[in-house]
Amino acid sequence: MAKNIYVLVEYQGDRVKKTSLDLIQALSEMPGTTVTAIALGTQVAVQDFGSAQAIVIEHEALAEYRGDTYAEAIFGALDKPEWIFACHTPFGRDIMPRLAALLDAGFASDCTSLDADFTLRRAMYAGKATARVSFTGSSVKLASMRPNTLMPKTPVSQTTTIKKVAPTLGTQRVTVREIVKSQSTRPDVSEAAIVISGGRSMKSVENFTLLETCADTLGAAVGASRAAVDAGFRPHRDQVGQTGKVVSPSLYIACGISGAIQHLAGMRTSKIIVAINTDPEAPIFQIADYGVVGDLFQIVPLLTEEFKKIKNQ
Ligand SMILES: Cc1cc2nc3c(=O)[nH]c(=O)nc-3n(C[C@H](O)[C@H](O)[C@H](O)COP(=O)(O)OP(=O)(O)OC[C@H]3O[C@@H](n4cnc5c(N)ncnc54)[C@H](O)[C@@H]3O)c2cc1C
Repeated sequence: MAKNIYVLVEYQGDRVKKTSLDLIQALSEMPGTTVTAIALGTQVAVQDFGSAQAIVIEHEALAEYRGDTYAEAIFGALDKPEWIFACHTPFGRDIMPRLAALLDAGFASDCTSLDADFTLRRAMYAGKATARVSFTGSSVKLASMRPNTLMPKTPVSQTTTIKKVAPTLGTQRVTVREIVKSQSTRPDVSEAAIVISGGRSMKSVENFTLLETCADTLGAAVGASRAAVDAGFRPHRDQVGQTGKVVSPSLYIACGISGAIQHLAGMRTSKIIVAINTDPEAPIFQIADYGVVGDLFQIVPLLTEEFKKIKNQ
């Protein structure tokens, strides 16, 4: 019997986040799975998600994200779920424990791989160790996958059968008074395929222009260490690490970042890591695929020039 899998969809405006689509499509192409995407909102922008089916839950109370309301709406729409997946983003981190509590189910968070037998690998002790975990018993199983870790092998073009649901919701206990939207037009660090990050050694807000110019050439996101965020060089939404965002891009370029364990916890699953640091003993070099011992203020402009040349070829 095929595994009955639900995947929670995340939107950015009217656009389904690529990380959600990747997760849905990667699960759909695993043998023996039936995947149902779940999208919520007031007027949900419907599309082919790459799954066989989708449930679109529409209600005025779902206009803005509220954990208890969303969890109640999802709970009511499930039909004999075996697995529920979401991306390990702020949305996934908030909604999944709520659903697990409602379903009295187990939850594996921040997973970085899923084997064919549905054994998961997840980070522990701030990324110092990873554990292989599997669920016992027959109850529903929940897992949040770190974005960009479970990727489809081929782009899936599957027509999704959409079922619309109007939930009956109880009294709302939370009111959203204001949403302050970020002014940034850059990709989010947890979504981007390439992230270029700076540390304390960037020395000022203005010096981050150096990384922004390089990022614009690559279509990359700009990240930061906590030291750079604490110094006020970047907003907290750009912080990578244990108390920031967990990223897993194809390419992570760390500029003047020492490689403290709390920073590594947020980026060590990046596919290729490049480190630029003046100190040849900096711990970041222990996990870097490519290391440049040198001054970032000299190296980054040179790299940007080379990237521009390649782009214009
Ligand atoms: C509970 C807790 C949670 C934390 N969470 C996070 C987190 O989420 N994310 C995070 O990043 N940190 C986190 N930290 C902080 C972490 O321990 C480090 O203090 C922080 O990552 C250091 O930032 P940094 O590498 O930018 O600065 P530093 O450690 O000061 O390193 C600066 C580096 O820049 C190099 N350098 C200096 N000048 C240049 C130059 N011109 N060119 C190239 N290299 C140069 C130096 O050799 C050095 O390696 C946390 C700490 C705690 C206790």
